[in-house]
Amino acid sequence: KAKHLTKVTDINKLFLEQAINEGDIVVDATMGNGYDTKYLAHLVGENGFVYAFDVQEEALKSTKKKLEKDEITDRVELILDGHENMDKYIDKKVACVVFNLGYLPRAQHMIITKPNTTIKAIEHSLNLLKPHGIVSIAIYTGHPGGEEEKNSIYDFVENLDQNEFSVLESKFVNQINNPPQLILIEKKMEY
Ligand code: SAM
Repeated sequence: KAKHLTKVTDINKLFLEQAINEGDIVVDATMGNGYDTKYLAHLVGENGFVYAFDVQEEALKSTKKKLEKDEITDRVELILDGHENMDKYIDKKVACVVFNLGYLPRAQHMIITKPNTTIKAIEHSLNLLKPHGIVSIAIYTGHPGGEEEKNSIYDFVENLDQNEFSVLESKFVNQINNPPQLILIEKKMEY
């Protein structure tokens, strides 16, 4: 549990732990090195399930290693495909979809999440959410293309109907060097 609130990722965890129960089905939309996939797999427990997506083979390899170490591979499906196609793999309602945008640290910085596919994936996520489920989006603007991606996400989420979704933003406003920011979307009801 986060003791100091100095990172939006700590704040994110407070909300995720509130929203996710044992046995839930959740999605890691950007697997990367698997830190979030592993975290989610522990949160949902042995009766839960995690779908994790990435377009880089390298991400699947390092995530698989982490899951094997904790003996939790059975409750996770690692999918080598873009999150914009998540609707092709998931046909059940989910409690949560987590996005950690940008690039994979120490890998090829050229492979970044992009506005069109990110928005498509957020749309699919909102359709897949069960009532009171949440979509969490960590946004980074320090790399080329990051600001543009942030702007399209804001254009999209600011226009979600408040009767259907609550949208919260979190950002440490006194941090230098483009601190990440967090968008949390809660589905209010079935629509
Ligand atoms: N959450 C990860 C972790 O715990 O290590 C870090 C994610 S990293 C910031 C962003 C990841 O998104 C990269 O691994 C990149 O390959 C991936 N990515 C880029 N475009 C994608 C897409 N269309 N669908 C799914 N993943 C994508």
